[in-house]
Amino acid sequence: MEVTRAFLARIEALNPKLNAYLHVDTEGALAQAAQVDEARAQNRPLGKLAGVPVAIKDNLCTRGVPTTCASKILKNYIPPYDAHVIRCLRREGAVLLGKANMDEFAMGSSNENSAFGAVANPWDANCAPGGSSGGSAAATASGLATAALGSDTGGSVRQPGAFCGVAAIKPTYGRVSRFGLIAFASSLDQVGPITRSVRDGARMLSVIAGHDPRDSTSVPEAHAGSTDFEAACDAPVKGLRVGVLRPSSDKGLEPDVLASFETSLKTLQQLGCELVDVSLPSSALVVSVYYLIAPAEASSNLARFDGMRYGLRVEGDDLTQVYQRTRAEGFGDEVERRIMLGTYALSAGYYDAFYVKAQKVRTLIRQDFDAAFAHCDLIVGPTSPTAAFKLGERTDDPLAMYLADIFTLPPSLAGLPAISVPCGLSSAGLPLGLQVTAPAFKEAQMIQLAHAFEQAFDTPMRPGGWD
Ligand code: GLN
Repeated sequence: MEVTRAFLARIEALNPKLNAYLHVDTEGALAQAAQVDEARAQNRPLGKLAGVPVAIKDNLCTRGVPTTCASKILKNYIPPYDAHVIRCLRREGAVLLGKANMDEFAMGSSNENSAFGAVANPWDANCAPGGSSGGSAAATASGLATAALGSDTGGSVRQPGAFCGVAAIKPTYGRVSRFGLIAFASSLDQVGPITRSVRDGARMLSVIAGHDPRDSTSVPEAHAGSTDFEAACDAPVKGLRVGVLRPSSDKGLEPDVLASFETSLKTLQQLGCELVDVSLPSSALVVSVYYLIAPAEASSNLARFDGMRYGLRVEGDDLTQVYQRTRAEGFGDEVERRIMLGTYALSAGYYDAFYVKAQKVRTLIRQDFDAAFAHCDLIVGPTSPTAAFKLGERTDDPLAMYLADIFTLPPSLAGLPAISVPCGLSSAGLPLGLQVTAPAFKEAQMIQLAHAFEQAFDTPMRPGGWD
């Protein structure tokens, strides 16, 4: 109770500056905390997250607690059920503080597409926290939560993790159930933890991972392997073969990012890793491929928001007009852009030229990874081509915004696990991230390397003024 009260007080004082939370569940959090204290008093066994205060991205359904996807269309939606991952957190005694701000329906890289206002980066309030899990990352970095859950479709856990200086994991597709995660692009979406250390991320992942029959793409344990990711933190990394993905400098790459990447490579060498150069030739096409496939799936998934079943409903003279008015009023610009792009890419006559072709290139990207992993155990590269950019800087240029995802998209399209771990600060004092990608279901090895790197790479990674 004491810890929970302290966090709630801190949120009350600081959230007006950050806008990281859209909804704070004071009552629910205190009730969960009371349960943990009671269990402790009675010497009953405690869960792995007993009393740990967490923030939840607002696209994860929480029973009885508003879940808006930061969209006007779901502004008053209160789900009657918990997402699978929420059930997992509750089972282990976590205290759910509230719902974290995000880009509307997880579409964006800066959190500026939220219908309820942008989020400030705790390191510099004029900068974006990244997106789309910007609220989850900002809350974790500023100590408004000990850990958070986000969702990652093309980088939405890792890129805000990098921008806010925290650890962020995108699991293998199928590792974590999507039941109760409001769908954006179903073949890419995964829930992942954002934490203040790799070890915390490992524990969070152990809690949410595992088979769930309510998600048909959830992979059975027999295939996915052990979920004891914490043990991996203590395994030695000497002798691991690490593939080095050298970022090409023509994609708006900041010199600071390159410099911190070179320093990171030295650290890996000092840890006894063997470095080998690798390349992903088809990755030059990832932005085009992702921005066809993700909008195509989104256009289909978001058809359900029609004013009939839940969320906003704007009346009209006939059914079509109700649909039109509800959707025109409910969705923001970026969501409308994606629905239009996706519908176009799926329409008869363009389906083969755009959607099918993009799927074929997606296969090539996966094959690139297969080829690269023949020479190494893990692959490292920068998480993002830049440190956090200024709020407002890219809002009028969707393409510039999409390019922020250039390094996080390849693992997403290939369904592979990847982590972003802090790797120092830019000359402006903003955090940078190192991305470690692993073969499917090799999260343990990925965590092993990221943890050793984090321990060896000893930069102060807390924003000033918040601790
Ligand atoms: N920034 C990417 C997009 O806008 C990725 C978002 C995500 O991973 N949810 O689609």
